[in-house]
Amino acid sequence: MSIEVQYRNRAKELLSNGEVKLVVGYTGGTTPERRRPVFISSAEQVDRLVLDDLCIANLSGYLVTESLLSDEKSVAVFLRPEGIRSINILAAENQLNPDQIVIFGFEPAGNTIKALDGTNALEFSEFVVSLSENPSVSDSDPVIEKLEKMSAQERFSFWQDEFSKCIKCYACRQACPMCYCRRCIVDCNQPQWINTSPHTLGNFEWNIIRAFHLAGRCVECGNCDRACPVNIPLRLINRRMAVEARESFDHFAGLSMTQEPVLASFKKDDSETFIL
Ligand code: SF4
Ligand code: SF4
Repeated sequence: MSIEVQYRNRAKELLSNGEVKLVVGYTGGTTPERRRPVFISSAEQVDRLVLDDLCIANLSGYLVTESLLSDEKSVAVFLRPEGIRSINILAAENQLNPDQIVIFGFEPAGNTIKALDGTNALEFSEFVVSLSENPSVSDSDPVIEKLEKMSAQERFSFWQDEFSKCIKCYACRQACPMCYCRRCIVDCNQPQWINTSPHTLGNFEWNIIRAFHLAGRCVECGNCDRACPVNIPLRLINRRMAVEARESFDHFAGLSMTQEPVLASFKKDDSETFIL
């Protein structure tokens, strides 16, 4: 039996016996190679669920949608490993109760996918630890390597060119499970921290501030990168920040539901290269 069928059967069972009120998963998109999120609330709709290697979006952000979990009923969600790490961060930051989440875990395996053992965040603890021991974040990304070899001025010019394309649509923010603030810093106008016009200074402010807010929290799901309508390679910033958090602070984002945020905690042996 395929994983898609197994998970459909499980979803039917959970919805029929009332164990969950909703299943957040994937269904066909507007073109054959696309998948889009779907919200299934009855057993009769379950056959709309699709699960294959085209299901790449991190769906965990929907769980922090206002009032979705406020009635304390459970929700099931399809998650890749990055999504499971997101659940840990959202739980550590008190944005959701992990006991209300039933996880349908899956990951790519060649051209196909395989199911992950476990149904809730706690049961995936060992799996996430194994990810941290063999992180996908790699210093060997060819574009990052190219950027690392540039002088500071050349790198600045590279990002200036990229950020000049930003139209301040905030799709990156909307797509990111970690960008859950009800009122984003960019929406404040008294005082106005970030200029909202899409010009060079404002674009730099927005993208750099967002990168800092995601430092040590980004799980590299790629939602922001895929959402950007002008193809700014946001993954490069996120990946570099993840490598930095790992190398400087031994911090792997989303390791557990009790992990302290890297920028809000202090260890005596933390690197202080920024002071020296
Ligand atoms: S910053 Fe981008 S890659 Fe990182 S968690 Fe948010 S959406 Fe995913
Ligand atoms: S999605 Fe792209 S264009 Fe839109 S605000 Fe983010 S970086 Fe700018």
